[in-house]
Amino acid sequence: MTTGYIDLQAQITKLTVPHSLFALSSSDKYHCPMDRDKPIQSVSFKTLGCKLNQSESDAIMAKFEENQFRVRPFGEEVDLTIINTCTVTNDADSKSRATIRRAIRNSPRGRVVVTGCYAQVKPEDIQTINGVDLILGNDEKYHIFDHLNKLQHGKLEEPLTIVNDEGEFTSVSEDGFISATSRTRVFLKIQEGCDYYCSYCIIPFARGKARSRPFTQTIDEARKLVDQGYREIVLTGINIGTYHTANGKQNLVDLLSALEQINGLDRVRVSSIEPNTVTDDLLHLVAGSKVICDHLHIPLQSANDDQLSAMNRKYRLEEYARLMARFRTILPTAALGTDVIVGFPGETEAHFEKTTAFIQAQPFTYLHIFRYSPREGTVAAKLDNPVQFHEIKRRSVVLHEVSQKLKFAYAEKFSGQTLKVLFDQFRDGLASGYTRNYLRVQVPATQNISQSILPVTLSRSDRGNLQGTLAGEIVREVV
Ligand code: SF4
Repeated sequence: MTTGYIDLQAQITKLTVPHSLFALSSSDKYHCPMDRDKPIQSVSFKTLGCKLNQSESDAIMAKFEENQFRVRPFGEEVDLTIINTCTVTNDADSKSRATIRRAIRNSPRGRVVVTGCYAQVKPEDIQTINGVDLILGNDEKYHIFDHLNKLQHGKLEEPLTIVNDEGEFTSVSEDGFISATSRTRVFLKIQEGCDYYCSYCIIPFARGKARSRPFTQTIDEARKLVDQGYREIVLTGINIGTYHTANGKQNLVDLLSALEQINGLDRVRVSSIEPNTVTDDLLHLVAGSKVICDHLHIPLQSANDDQLSAMNRKYRLEEYARLMARFRTILPTAALGTDVIVGFPGETEAHFEKTTAFIQAQPFTYLHIFRYSPREGTVAAKLDNPVQFHEIKRRSVVLHEVSQKLKFAYAEKFSGQTLKVLFDQFRDGLASGYTRNYLRVQVPATQNISQSILPVTLSRSDRGNLQGTLAGEIVREVV
């Protein structure tokens, strides 16, 4: 990454701090000097943006809970508010700023910490908001307890800003943090950052260069999670298909093969993966595995080469179509999601129709549709031929309808079959969970069966959500 994008040298206080994480005991509570008798005991979180941000916030929240802080809903008056921001669009920046101001209004005497991608990319914007105490870049968010010490003498005149502006974060630095809201499913981050520089995307600037978590450390962490009772591990990262060890000898397929061997691990789910990183080895591994979920999410964005080129994507339509043919052959019953951008500059009606037709001819089972909006600081923000907003909206509606049809048709295929479901919710006599191939299933239940994996005979689909009954034995399992 070029450091020219943000010149923060003059504005950012760089601190070297010991990273002795979580040395707090319950008697070590921070004290607010505005009210010396009142230790900082309550904390609230607000997260904007993607699933990765959410999983990172969950992980930090879990550590606060472990350290006897009371986690309160965002909006209540608390001693400390942590806002994990997003910067993926200009609109996300505005939302991040509005959320920070809201947090300051909610708790005028409380400390306010801002972290995440907006904090990483635009700390100077956040510094202008009165009432912010601490701004942490993405690489620093896991060291939050160290930095809180610096706030113990009261609210600061100027926010303390600690952002690594080199774009070269050294590691995936969340060791010891586990992101999970129950013992059912847990996110395990294996990779951080991205070197692809798609023209519309700010993430390489916000998350730094691609780097992978060490192999053995990742496997050890996965073992610990299994020992703690987690049933499913979801691998996360920004560009996980680029996962590789420092010597380049092991890649994502090797990591998955090793994870598969962990005794007691029921499921591993691979999240979004770039098409040019999906190999036949990966598809065959998924197809032959009883542990790795038969569910992939492979972003398409557009079915037009000129648009893919303007987006600086790493593949062209012919390559993507070949991948789809291989996917269909090797994983004929697997779930397959994709991302599509509507209204990228220069997208004509003919482009859109071609993308829609291509999608309908592929084995997709659902779509994530993104309406394009220019992101300041990206190459695409300077492109000519913007698409009118009403047209972007119309195209988005068309694709949402396509997505619904794909989802319903896929769910219907499994009606009458018996599949294993990992249950994660129980309410009003109904339990629900996901199959390995990402079908949401609901069954009547007399007790809470969350965390269990049980066979369910699927009956009917209600808008893509399947109803079913607990079955005595598995008649057929999707592999
Ligand atoms: S692959 Fe492209 S869209 Fe995805 S994070 Fe990297 S630059 Fe952004």
